Amino acid sequence: MKLLTCILKQNDCYHTKRTIQPKGVMVHSTGANNPNLKRYVQPLDGDADCAALLAQLGVNNNKNDWNRPGLDVCVHGFIGKLADGSIASVQTLPWSWRGWHAGTGTSGKSANNTHISFEICEDGLTDPDYFRLVYREAVELTACLCRQYGLDPLADGVVICHSEGHRRGIASGHADVEHWFPKQGTSMDDFRADVAAELAARPEPEPEPAPEPKPEPEEDDDMKYYKTLEDVPEYYRSTVEKLVESGVLKGTAENVLNVSEDFCRTMTVLDRLGKLV
Ligand SMILES: [Zn+2]
Repeated sequence: MKLLTCILKQNDCYHTKRTIQPKGVMVHSTGANNPNLKRYVQPLDGDADCAALLAQLGVNNNKNDWNRPGLDVCVHGFIGKLADGSIASVQTLPWSWRGWHAGTGTSGKSANNTHISFEICEDGLTDPDYFRLVYREAVELTACLCRQYGLDPLADGVVICHSEGHRRGIASGHADVEHWFPKQGTSMDDFRADVAAELAARPEPEPEPAPEPKPEPEEDDDMKYYKTLEDVPEYYRSTVEKLVESGVLKGTAENVLNVSEDFCRTMTVLDRLGKLV
């Protein structure tokens, strides 16, 4: 799967900024013979990645893409052809925002409130090569969304197409994708099974094991300490004694000095040099 992002910020749907808790994915197809993503998806002039996106998508000179006000439709993504003819997905709304893709069904309810949606750009519906590629892309995108939102693609009503949504009373009366998939020898049942297989083939990565607690850094100090005057070796003791007696070195009440060997050696040298009185 190749996934680009080009959010349709000029679409009125984007401005509602309503969110949903995704309970499923609704698969649509565009109903028009134009497999090019640029027909529907264009960045805005001010977008930071505008030039890069235009290079990938191609330029829609008809200015009839969906990144403009005045439309009553908006989906979360499109699958179709990039400018170089390869197939990609483009995310066009944040996944958990409420899209305008399903209309209202006979129950009075709408999958807009529950389902993430994407459109597969239709070609003439007879090319098996194009179909195989966009079908595969749709399987992978749907698996990715199921994983992200903890959805079971085989559970009832989770992964459905627009026409299935219509039969369930939660979408307007459209034929997509059942006017196309069967022509290519497949069905939404196959699609759901393929999404489940895709999820099973790429099991969720094991959570990273908690890092082993690092051992405390070794004290870079094998310095010897002498707790009391009695512990100080004889060759330093007279010097240390002198320091204690003169009151320069004060231990605790229990005569604990905790002097280091370095200290003792330094003081002894000074003592021998006559620097200590
Ligand atoms: Zn539809």
